[in-house]
Amino acid sequence: MAETRQTPGRPWRVRLGNPLSWSLADRCLTASIIVTVASAIFVASLYLGDGWPFVAFDLEHAPLVPVVSLVHLTPWLVLLGLSLRARRRTRGRPGEPARGAGLAVATVLLFAETLALFTLVTGPFASPGWIGFLGGAVVGYLMFDRRLARAGVVLYVSLVTVGALLEKARPWRWIDDVLPGHDYPRWSTSAIVGHAIASTALLALVLTLIAFVIDRWRDREARYQHLARTDHLTALTNRRTFLELAGRELARARRYDEAIAIVIVDLDHFKRVNDQHGHLVGDRVLARAAEIFAATVRDVDVVARYGGEEFGILLPATDAAGAHEVAERCRRRLATTAIELDTGGAPVHITASLGVASARGASAQLEDLLRRADQALYRAKAAGRDCTAVDGDQPGAGADDAAAAAPATT
Ligand code: GH3
Ligand code: MG
Ligand code: MG
Repeated sequence: MAETRQTPGRPWRVRLGNPLSWSLADRCLTASIIVTVASAIFVASLYLGDGWPFVAFDLEHAPLVPVVSLVHLTPWLVLLGLSLRARRRTRGRPGEPARGAGLAVATVLLFAETLALFTLVTGPFASPGWIGFLGGAVVGYLMFDRRLARAGVVLYVSLVTVGALLEKARPWRWIDDVLPGHDYPRWSTSAIVGHAIASTALLALVLTLIAFVIDRWRDREARYQHLARTDHLTALTNRRTFLELAGRELARARRYDEAIAIVIVDLDHFKRVNDQHGHLVGDRVLARAAEIFAATVRDVDVVARYGGEEFGILLPATDAAGAHEVAERCRRRLATTAIELDTGGAPVHITASLGVASARGASAQLEDLLRRADQALYRAKAAGRDCTAVDGDQPGAGADDAAAAAPATT
């Protein structure tokens, strides 16, 4: 599925990943499989166990139930096919979880309709339908959009109520007719409506509580995810996430034979800033430098805090000449910005040295790129700081880098 982690000894759990990180296509596919299997069990139970465990059916009185159940599988099989197709299309592109929104709408609404049909067959307000409904609503809240789950709940309650009122127009009979040997009184219209209102109110309360808990839990999950991925001081991506994203982008560059570049930035004589102004001012300067770099690159680029006063910039689909241009833009902006201090006093001026490395296609390897960017950075420091040095590409790789092979000092 969308996200896998290599943990020895847990192959199945590793292969399934975290359901909350699955793509929408995977979620829809799971729902299609569950409904298909459940329908098969239901129909089999009608023939093999007189309807047990759902209801004590007498098939002579309800001959259409298995036929309707099987015919009703058709849209689910179509959904299953569409989910598989969407899954193939999004494979290897985990950054696109929003794809398949239409599929999710179809899945949730069809699920509500299917469950309503099942509830009407087994008897409205009987436990199998309500158990399925509660479970479906909770899973819907967890796995799909909250508003969509709510629409599914409204559709289910409406269909069950209308179905119960139109009972005589249906091709099958209610529980009071099909339970052989029992003579239950038929429900009056007011009893059905009263039951629907009471059940809906109770369910609304339960679902509100569940939604409340799930929302809190989701918020907390999002906060922890953010904390784990972000550097507190600069609000940039942290080193671990930077390396993770870089690994992913490099795999993409290899696959699509694209160029990719990494820039490592180190602030010049930063120790002096701390020594002269104190660590708090040092922190403020770091945060301001981060803002400047983040505002200078494109949306698809990633700026991260790589170390103490070092930053990493990941530039997808960028060759050495392009990366040199971006690096120089960052360097110039920093050098020409007077960093104002909250504490008053003269603004601080700071410069940075930058090392650039790029690669294309099969030669794009993370460790190699980082090592070469680091070497270029050392050359920039050795060349007198406040400058950018570009590493030459691997011998035999793309020609983009030849122009920038020599250290470019400004
Ligand atoms: P160079 O030009 O050679 O890079 O000199 P430099 O002084 O920048 O390099 P050096 O590695 O000697 O010092 C880095 C300094 O960055 C020392 C360290 O205290 C400071 N530093 C690292 N992280 C932080 C931080 O989070 N806040 C503050 N205020 N300072 C930090
Ligand atoms: Mg440093
Ligand atoms: Mg430094």
